[in-house]
Amino acid sequence: MKILNRSFLLIATTLLFANTIVVAQEHHDAGPKPLDPDEVISWLKKGNTEFEKNENIKHAIDPKLRMELAKGQHPQAIILTCSDSRVSPELVFNKGLGDLFVIRVAGNVTDDAVLGSIEYSAEHLHTPLIVVMGHTNCGAIAAAVSDQKDDDAHSASINNMVRTLTDKIQEAVLFINAKEPDPIRNALVSNVEFNTTLLRNSHPTLSNMVKKHELKIVGAVYHLEDGKVEWLNY
Ligand SMILES: [Zn+2]
Repeated sequence: MKILNRSFLLIATTLLFANTIVVAQEHHDAGPKPLDPDEVISWLKKGNTEFEKNENIKHAIDPKLRMELAKGQHPQAIILTCSDSRVSPELVFNKGLGDLFVIRVAGNVTDDAVLGSIEYSAEHLHTPLIVVMGHTNCGAIAAAVSDQKDDDAHSASINNMVRTLTDKIQEAVLFINAKEPDPIRNALVSNVEFNTTLLRNSHPTLSNMVKKHELKIVGAVYHLEDGKVEWLNY
C-alpha cells in the first residue's frame, strides 16, 4: 500500500472522475472567468469569522442546488486537512455542498493518492487555491513527537499503519524545523509547511500551475479551542 503505482492511480482516478472531467472540460471550453486565489482566501476568512461568531450559519441544503451540482462541480478551494472529527472544513469555513474539494487524512500528510486527488481538482476543476490545514491538539502530531522522544527509537504503542503517518510527520519536522519553542507547535507548523512546499514543488502539474499564477498554495492552522483559522505566512 505504501508505494502506489502512478499509472494505476492515474487510470483509477480517470475512471472514477471520467464523467465529471467531461463536465469540467465543457465548463472550461465555455470560458469561465478564472477565480482569483486571494479572493477565495477572503471568502474562506469571512466564512471562518461567521463560524467563530456563530453568525449566518448555513447547514441547510437547498434541493435546487443539489440538483444543479449533480450536473458538475466547481469547488473554489482544495482543503487538505486532518481526519480528526473536530476539524470539518465545510463547518469551519461555513461553506456548503459543492464549495470545497476536501482531502482528509490523519496528520494532513501527502502521498500519491492525496496528490492525485489534489491534481484532479486543480487541473480539471480549475480550483485556484490549496489550503494545507493542520490543527491544535492533533493526535497524529502528538504521536510523532512522543515517538521521536522515545529512546527506543520506535515506541511499541504505535502500530505499523500509524507509523506510516508519524514517519512522514517526523520527516517534515527534520526537514523544515520551524523553530517554535513548543515541540508540539513546532511539529504542527513544520508539517503544514513541509506539505505546502512539497505540493508547490510537485512537478509538473502543480508547480507549473503555481508558476503560471493559476494556483496558490497556503498553510493554515485551525484552533479547536476558539474556532479560528490562523493563516501561516499569508
Ligand atoms: Zn489531527
